[in-house]
Amino acid sequence: MIKWIWKLLYRPQSIWSRWVHTYVLKGHDFWLATTNISQSWYWNNVVKMKNLLLDITGSPAQALQLLEGCSTNLMYNTRLMYDSVKFCNPKVSWHNLVHGKGCHPKHSFAGMMVMHNALLTIDNLMRRGLALVNRCALCEACSEDVHHIFFNCSYSTHLLNYIGIWLGLSLRSFSLFTIAQDFASRRSTCRQRIGFMATIYYLWNERNVRIFKGVKCSVDTLSVKIKKIVHLRLYGFGLS
Ligand SMILES: [Zn+2]
Repeated sequence: MIKWIWKLLYRPQSIWSRWVHTYVLKGHDFWLATTNISQSWYWNNVVKMKNLLLDITGSPAQALQLLEGCSTNLMYNTRLMYDSVKFCNPKVSWHNLVHGKGCHPKHSFAGMMVMHNALLTIDNLMRRGLALVNRCALCEACSEDVHHIFFNCSYSTHLLNYIGIWLGLSLRSFSLFTIAQDFASRRSTCRQRIGFMATIYYLWNERNVRIFKGVKCSVDTLSVKIKKIVHLRLYGFGLS
């Protein structure tokens, strides 16, 4: 949307810019424009982006400076703008494992939630005040927390061992950060990353299916499902 602001200001002779000045702004200052229910959704979003730019920079002059800084060869550069306005945190050691090429977005999302211990595991729900019985749905023997579900549970360990061998992974120990560090410190293949993240996703999915649908899947069946999805992802991305 900011690109349209850039066009309005730096391409004043374009048909769209002339139309906006004639029929929308009607001689008024763009930097003072407000959202209006009588205007289109599109224009109101341009105005919202203008307000965002002003919030970030503090004044129209500085907003213009930012827009000029995001131009290369007289063209607007979205990447430069994105890099300028995004909030930058240092990269985490596991970013490549979780967000690397080929990972299914829902697998990446589940992986990110695991790394942040943000999944609604029973221990997390109990900390929020819910009165629940903490019992792992996978092994039905231990209490559930993120480390148990993915790395200490007998069901998970069995599956991770099986998939680990198939992927050629020599996981030193089944702990969250050891595995993340292993992936970060050595050159893992796409297949290994995709396979590992798919395993994490399907473990969480299996846990949920058991709790909410009462259906159980064996390690063998789940591993077949994981292998299939890994093959499909690799095929889809032209990877091997
Ligand atoms: Zn368990």
